[in-house]
Amino acid sequence: MKTLFEKIAAKEIPAEIIYEDDQCFAIKDIRPQAPSHFLVIPRKVIPKLSQASQQDKELLGHLLLSCTEIAKKLGLDEEGFRVVINNGEMAGQTVFHLHMHVLGGRPLSWPPG
Ligand code: 5GP
Repeated sequence: MKTLFEKIAAKEIPAEIIYEDDQCFAIKDIRPQAPSHFLVIPRKVIPKLSQASQQDKELLGHLLLSCTEIAKKLGLDEEGFRVVINNGEMAGQTVFHLHMHVLGGRPLSWPPG
C-alpha cells in the first residue's frame, strides 16, 4: 500500500509542491505550525529515520541540503529556521514515510513540547 506521501508524489492527493528533484520533493504542511512549514520527503520510502541504513547516507545528506536550499529561497536563513524529524509515535511521528519538517517565520521555543 502506498504511503500518504507516495500518493502526493504521484499527484493522487493534492498538495502544494514547492520543490522536486529525482531524489526528493517538498510540500507545504497541511497544518502549518509556523508561518513557514514545509516537509522535505525522499521518493524512496524509509518508514522512519532509525530505519535508514548506510546505503542511505548520500540521500540523507541530500535531504538536509534540500532543506537549507529551500529555506534560503524562502528567505528564512537570515532569522533562522528549524529542521525536525519525528522518529516514532512517542516523538509525534504520524506519517511513516521519512520526512524532515522545516519551520520558520516566528520565534521557536526550546525545548520543544
Ligand atoms: P509527522 O507527525 O509524521 O512528523 O508529520 C506529518 C506531517 O504531515 C504533519 O505535520 C501533518 O500536518 C502533515 N500532513 C498530514 N497529512 C497531510 C496532507 O494530506 N497534506 C499535507 N501537505 N501535509 C499533511
